[in-house]
Amino acid sequence: MRSILIVGAGQAGLHLAIGLLQKGYDVTVVSNRTPAEIGGGRVMSGQAMFGLAQAHEQALGLDRWSDTCPPIEGIELSVPGPDGGKALSFAARLDTPARSVDQRLKMPVWMEEVERLGGRIVIHDASAADLERYAAEHDLVLVAAGKGEIASLFGRDAGRSPYGSPQRALALLYVRGVAPRSAQVCFNLLPGVGEFFVFPALTGSGPCEIMVFEGVPGGPMDCWGVASTPEEHLDVAKEILGRFFPWEAERCASIELTDANGVLTGRFSPTVREPVAVLPSGAAVLGVGDVVVLNDPITGQGSNNAAKCAATYLAAILEHGDLPFDAAWMRATFERFWQQAEPVTRWTNALLAPAEPHMLELLGAATGSAEVASRFVNGFDDPADFDQWFMEAGKARAYLDGIAR
Ligand SMILES: Cc1cc2nc3c(=O)[nH]c(=O)nc-3n(C[C@H](O)[C@H](O)[C@H](O)COP(=O)(O)OP(=O)(O)OC[C@H]3O[C@@H](n4cnc5c(N)ncnc54)[C@H](O)[C@@H]3O)c2cc1C
Repeated sequence: MRSILIVGAGQAGLHLAIGLLQKGYDVTVVSNRTPAEIGGGRVMSGQAMFGLAQAHEQALGLDRWSDTCPPIEGIELSVPGPDGGKALSFAARLDTPARSVDQRLKMPVWMEEVERLGGRIVIHDASAADLERYAAEHDLVLVAAGKGEIASLFGRDAGRSPYGSPQRALALLYVRGVAPRSAQVCFNLLPGVGEFFVFPALTGSGPCEIMVFEGVPGGPMDCWGVASTPEEHLDVAKEILGRFFPWEAERCASIELTDANGVLTGRFSPTVREPVAVLPSGAAVLGVGDVVVLNDPITGQGSNNAAKCAATYLAAILEHGDLPFDAAWMRATFERFWQQAEPVTRWTNALLAPAEPHMLELLGAATGSAEVASRFVNGFDDPADFDQWFMEAGKARAYLDGIAR
């Protein structure tokens, strides 16, 4: 039986571990947090997942919350105008509803599933030296440690990483008490200042809403340093909404946090890394999920990518049979995933920059065209589609001309 060790019990690592266990592999998962620490810890993500990513989970029977997690049925995009109203706004339904299940709820259940299927969970903060030992003892070692320090063993791929510094100051709040509205992501975008989006989710105590703030560094939404307590986070959130997104402030006047750990602030550089780390002994280990493709959460794609990466690697491992998992196989396996991750990365990085004129024209067109609005909204599920009509001026023109005819 082939023996595989995975560092990191997150979206990517546990999805892959369970898929391998179901196919009879011997699997060990090393986690630096116990299930109780994950469940009772701080929120780390908004984790909204769209149809394609959910389908990968469903294929392994990993979707345990579709009955209890409120569906996200669409996306509304708004740009504020100078008068406090909306300069631009459109909405469309997602063909398949998205869902966000608090990772604090999901990961402990998936860790239990690993053990139920005969896998081992080892609680340990894995180091580079540990990787040497793991590589000597297992046929394949995968590092799915997210933004953990150990990811720095994988070199930055400068050609695929256009940004060398964080592009947004991030804040996340899990709340209740948002005034009733249609079940959708409300995505608000104020050029030069930042973005705010809010959407339904499921946390440990039941349905909630997740608020994500993305402030341009040094700008007026990069202001979370003043908040040290959860209550102060709530105050800063309300202040930002009142100042920049008045319609959201109105709806969020009575919000409260779901729990004291329902807040997070931080910033990181979007980074694509070399997929393989070669250890001093010459042994190679393969990066998974955020370790290799870490995008800004502005487009809500990281958990989706993690699921797609796990599904791609799972297929590649199964196809490889008893052959050695050498560095060449690892690179080829990552490139297979990169086919899906590259358009996601390109689109996400583009949304962090000032919008190009043809993109503004398309968003403007979406306000008067249900077809354009629907194509934009459903692109969140399969961002490769943006390459066909959104990313390049020539293709945008051809698309708009085709619609006008
Ligand atoms: C503010 C914010 C909002 C987001 N919103 C969304 C969204 O709406 N939709 C979406 O798709 N994505 C979203 N994301 C991104 C998403 O959360 C991540 O991309 C996704 O969780 C990545 O999965 P992963 O398995 O690669 O890493 P993680 O989920 O980070 O899991 C890594 C695990 O490895 C563990 N670990 C780290 N180092 C070690 C070590 N040395 N030894 C052992 N274990 C270790 C960690 O504790 C963790 O449990 C958001 C992120 C942020 C910051």
